[in-house]
Amino acid sequence: MQTHEIARRFTEHFVTAGHTRVPSASLILDDPTLLFVNAGMVQFKPYFLGEAPPPYPRATSIQKCVRTGDIDEVGRTTRHNTFFQMAGNFSFGDYFKAGAIEHAWNLVTGSRDAGGYGFDPDRIWPTVYRDDDEAFELWRRISGLPAERIQRRGGKDNYWDMGVPGPGGPCSEIFYDRGPEHGREGGPVADEDRYIEIWNLVFMQDVRGELSPKDEHPPIGSLPKKNIDTGMGIERVACLLQGVDNVYETDLVRPVIARAEEFSGRRYGADHEDDVRFRVIADHARSGVMIIGDGVTPSNEGRGYVLRRLLRRIVRSARLLGVREPVLPAFAEVVRDAMAPSYPELATDFERIRAAVQAEEEAFLQTLTAGSRIFDTAVAETKRQGALVLPGDRAFQLHDTYGFPIDLTLEMAAEAGLQVDRDRFAALMDEQRTRAKADARSRKVGHGDGSIYRTVLDRAGDTEFLGYTDLAAEAT
Ligand code: ATP
Ligand code: MG
Ligand code: MG
Ligand code: MG
Repeated sequence: MQTHEIARRFTEHFVTAGHTRVPSASLILDDPTLLFVNAGMVQFKPYFLGEAPPPYPRATSIQKCVRTGDIDEVGRTTRHNTFFQMAGNFSFGDYFKAGAIEHAWNLVTGSRDAGGYGFDPDRIWPTVYRDDDEAFELWRRISGLPAERIQRRGGKDNYWDMGVPGPGGPCSEIFYDRGPEHGREGGPVADEDRYIEIWNLVFMQDVRGELSPKDEHPPIGSLPKKNIDTGMGIERVACLLQGVDNVYETDLVRPVIARAEEFSGRRYGADHEDDVRFRVIADHARSGVMIIGDGVTPSNEGRGYVLRRLLRRIVRSARLLGVREPVLPAFAEVVRDAMAPSYPELATDFERIRAAVQAEEEAFLQTLTAGSRIFDTAVAETKRQGALVLPGDRAFQLHDTYGFPIDLTLEMAAEAGLQVDRDRFAALMDEQRTRAKADARSRKVGHGDGSIYRTVLDRAGDTEFLGYTDLAAEAT
């Protein structure tokens, strides 16, 4: 089942069930707590927070999402994109747990002839929050699944709040078992790929109070009107229904891998590290294009910096696949062709997108050229001294001044018959990271209310703003 069809069926199911269809919001919303929209509920926040009356009791959307916090997972797990589409259904004081579970169950296991996804009920594993007996019993009744298949979980995965006083509630995550060839048995385990989370149901029922030193935001009451917020990952469902290994091989992402194979002359599936690079390229090309599509340009700050990092990581990965010529405009075209049926603005606005990626790639390639000269000098010096190890200080200088990723230095050093003093390099990186953190804390972020931004980033433990200091730590 194609990705477009998965989205279409979702919308049709919920529109038929009385939900108002709401288009995706831009990835960039005027929300100081978020760099990018990262969930379907974001555009409905005022209704959930009681700041505005909901214009409809039920809504459904397919929301563009970017989660840069997942960047290190990309290409290495089977299920994390930096850009993905979250299908959601929302109830504002209308139906609650029973309705949400029933809808999800019916759509997931409903027969394909009748508009469902046709997943085998024997492979579905729902989880509920440990104290949520109500959800547990509803799952038993609605799905008929045996008790041991409905697992109780702690707050980390199965309780949701916004990190601020306000609504919160238990969640129910729905997993699909891909079978014994994907890992050990026994039910969903975080960070394993046998059981794939496809859908998350949030039951907003509690009011959470001010932050306490002991409990994050203790429950201080019940919401007068209970809400439903759900999110189903379209790419994950596509991966499972298309019978491919991971989300990067689904119909809308894979074409970029094919293009990268043409550029590199290497074959996807032949070498593990190369495969990760192919997947990173395909994932980042899509998120890069979608982010530019919503009006961001590469820069050294905020969203523009995240974008820059994504684009440069593509170029770097292509280089590690042996490609020397410019790749970004070509990859952007492939993304446009895959995504424009859902997002026609990508086609009408393509010249702007092309120009942005082209300029960024040229700038980065210049950096790489300058860095290569420094590298050659360092190699000559090392060899003249009869040493076999390139000093960590040099690797750090290349990284720090020329934006030269450490993996590139390692590879080029190996080609020159040298090793790199990685311990020294890591120590210098650590030092710099500590400095950058201290610096970021003492600095306000440009305009707007940077303080909120900062707080949220700190809380999330994100390092997006620490310049290039964390690039080297990251996998290729
Ligand atoms: P995971 O535990 O696998 O990281 P999550 O619990 O963080 O997922 P949610 O915040 O519950 O994800 O988001 C709702 C749904 O969106 C998930 O059930 C999943 O199907 C999808 N999803 C979340 N993150 C990603 C991602 N990085 N790439 C693709 N799909 C995603
Ligand atoms: Mg996650
Ligand atoms: Mg989860
Ligand atoms: Mg979840």
